[in-house]
Amino acid sequence: MKLGERIVSIDLYPQPGAAQPYYQPVLLWDQEGATLVDTGMIGQMDQMTRAIREAGLQLSDIKRIILTHQDIDHIGNLAAFIAENPAIEVWAHADDIPYITGEKRIIKMTDERISQMPEAAQTAIRSLFDKLPSIRISRVLADGDVLDIHGGMRVIHTPGHTPGHICLYLPEEQLLLAADELRVVDGDLAGPPEGFFTLDMDEAVRSMHKLTGLPLQKIFCYHGGLYDNHPSERLAELIRTLEQA
Ligand SMILES: [Zn+2]
Repeated sequence: MKLGERIVSIDLYPQPGAAQPYYQPVLLWDQEGATLVDTGMIGQMDQMTRAIREAGLQLSDIKRIILTHQDIDHIGNLAAFIAENPAIEVWAHADDIPYITGEKRIIKMTDERISQMPEAAQTAIRSLFDKLPSIRISRVLADGDVLDIHGGMRVIHTPGHTPGHICLYLPEEQLLLAADELRVVDGDLAGPPEGFFTLDMDEAVRSMHKLTGLPLQKIFCYHGGLYDNHPSERLAELIRTLEQA
């Protein structure tokens, strides 16, 4: 899906024939080269590669990967991108880096949780874990950083879903890449998933206040895609609803 000038989503489907994409990394490019925001779920490298080519780029055009957080459906193909291009840079927020590099266990992937998964998924996750210690982080991101790409992309630290979760704001497009801080569910804007998937819901809702006040035309969520129906107003309303819950 085209999100702006030289910005597309990479639409990844959970299984062949699925009606809706469930994972949506974002690909942007400018004179500084191409940037990929998140890498999809484990095992989706072929889908990723096809979509990147359809956007008119090659894997070798991607200069950097920004990870919005540590979850496996965001770092799932990170090692595959690095294998394709060892010079690729990896940028992430300080608070999620120890998990991405395997120094600490991915928070939601406890032994108990893994043991409840089908065997093939267990094998895939263990293989992901094995590759993490070789990940080198090129740039440590912090709240408020203005990046030298895409007209000054801004980093907004939004802890709650994970400690180092970030959103990215593109001022030229008035576009917010909300990652998993927000979702689109049945066409409406929603908060992060409840329960196990969001470590600290109260903190996630507090983080949403950092997103109000931005001039917004579009919010793009990793799960659910685009929301462009008066996004600022709807976001303020959503925060009120979540705070009363
Ligand atoms: Zn996710």
